[in-house]
Amino acid sequence: MCHKPGEPAIPGVEYFRPDVKCCSYYPKLPNYLIGGLLADTNPALEEGRRRIRERIRNRVAVTPQALFTPKRYNLLHKYGMPQSYGRVSSMLCPYYIKEGGLCSIWKFRDAVCSTYFCKTMAGKEGAKFWKVMRAYLNQTQETLSWYALHKMNWDVESIWDYLNELDSASLQAEDLDETPPPDANYAKIWKEWVGREEEFYIECYNLVTKLTREDFDRISGINEKVIMLWLKEKYNNVMHPQIPSVLQKNPDMKIYPMSDGSTYAIRTDVGFFTILPALHDVVNLFDGVKPTDEIKKIVFEKYEDELSDELLQTMYFNHMLLPA
Ligand code: SF4
Repeated sequence: MCHKPGEPAIPGVEYFRPDVKCCSYYPKLPNYLIGGLLADTNPALEEGRRRIRERIRNRVAVTPQALFTPKRYNLLHKYGMPQSYGRVSSMLCPYYIKEGGLCSIWKFRDAVCSTYFCKTMAGKEGAKFWKVMRAYLNQTQETLSWYALHKMNWDVESIWDYLNELDSASLQAEDLDETPPPDANYAKIWKEWVGREEEFYIECYNLVTKLTREDFDRISGINEKVIMLWLKEKYNNVMHPQIPSVLQKNPDMKIYPMSDGSTYAIRTDVGFFTILPALHDVVNLFDGVKPTDEIKKIVFEKYEDELSDELLQTMYFNHMLLPA
């Protein structure tokens, strides 16, 4: 998604900034994932733990259910999408390590970060699959974080007002300055756990990790079950696509030779990609008349190599090839 220095820019493509990439996002981290990170002893996650501890100390959008996205960021994100995405350094994630472009909490990142891909092998069908997977994992995060609260005998009413306030579209002075709520309000949210928030999150993690798959099925609701059926359908669309036996090269596909002389950039309505000249030649064989089996034989005779079903599916999913 980033423009390579020295390469001609592909017309119509809005590139990401290499120092921002897809991390112009601020995840909401459920209680048990925070606890997992804090309890983990891997030194590679130390920077992530330091940043999470700093967030807890700052008390902004810090609740027993989750470390929420602060309101100011949420609204900027809402009105800045999609044009700002990948392009604005002020919207960088607080857990992003600029040096090397790494994630400091990788193993414990949320449902959105775990399922976002700039490009997928299966084009639009792949993007749909990951979107539904995101919905499923988001639902799962909700279930597990509320389960942990329930097991901790949490008085839901104590956080209700604050959660509603975080969800509302109005901005107070403290939201704009990102200052903590007044001590009395914070104490109402956290009660006897004020100052022991880390301990609370680790308890949540311990409760969730004890769950078996059967336990999860028992505590999860109809939403998970409905989304799982939907997810299976998307999975089948990706893994067992119905590809017509005669295909044609997409007449609207744009092809640009790259300055290195050994690759082509192509653009379809799905996205843009770089391909090798041999693949470019193979795509040109699809004339809307010859069946794919015949083209496979031509490819084998010419290149002594197989045109695999996997590669064919990728070209089809990414609209390099269309039904004849
Ligand atoms: S949590 Fe990690 S992967 Fe997600 S936006 Fe932040 S730095 Fe990127």
